[in-house]
Amino acid sequence: MVKLTFLEAGHCFHPEVIVIQGGRLAKRKFPSTVAVIEHPREGVILFDTGYSQRFHEQTRKFPERLYAMVTPVHVRPEESAAAQLAARGIAARDVTHVVLSHFHADHVAGVGDFPRARYSYLRSGWDGVRELSGLGAVAAGFLRGLLPGDFEARSRPIASEKMREGAALAPFSAGFDLFDDGSVVLVELPGHAKGHAGLFVRSDAGPFFLVADACWLARAYQDLKMPSPIARLIMHDSAAYRRTLEGIRQLSREQPGVRVVPCHCSDTYAAVPAFGEPR
Ligand SMILES: [Zn+2]
Repeated sequence: MVKLTFLEAGHCFHPEVIVIQGGRLAKRKFPSTVAVIEHPREGVILFDTGYSQRFHEQTRKFPERLYAMVTPVHVRPEESAAAQLAARGIAARDVTHVVLSHFHADHVAGVGDFPRARYSYLRSGWDGVRELSGLGAVAAGFLRGLLPGDFEARSRPIASEKMREGAALAPFSAGFDLFDDGSVVLVELPGHAKGHAGLFVRSDAGPFFLVADACWLARAYQDLKMPSPIARLIMHDSAAYRRTLEGIRQLSREQPGVRVVPCHCSDTYAAVPAFGEPR
């Protein structure tokens, strides 16, 4: 059985009304959550990597600076995923796999901190950003300088054709079983970004469904609330996003034992097992 815990690697602030229709005007904190999966055979696996100092380094100059102006990011050196793992005795080189939901900067800023990790993600997600540069990259939330030089050499892109029906839970039943034991299964969650993916984890504390940015707040899938029209402008496919949101709601009703964890929902984060705390 794998152990699953969560840590917050930095956060940003946005008015709540941007991320959810009917939300408040006041700014709200959005943590960048990293899932830490301790697998008895595979070692330490991360799902997304949150922010790190590299985000500040990579957004000093234009046009990348525009990203930091639109999204005020807060992350201290000791708050990166690598630093928090190290503080609990897990060295960066002990992280064997990093699974990425998509390539927005708040998910990949810590990617370069793990020198021996293999990277897994949907091939279509990488294809959607790999040729981007300059303003086009910034507009897509992609900062190439966050990725290490050997990123592709250490990657295992997963093609959609590799998804197997029945590997995960309906309506997201097609999945890719990352370690061939059913413990960690990658599924497509279309809409937010091209090639956006989530993860089913069968942990010793029960089943979890990590939905990354398929919704920003738990309330969004519970009440079926879309983001604001402004947020929809940066969305890859608004209709697909809605279908994904409906699917998460359906799953949460049909399988109430599965805990749904969006990446940036502070309410959810407060209730999940925290990395480094005794259980
Ligand atoms: Zn995103």
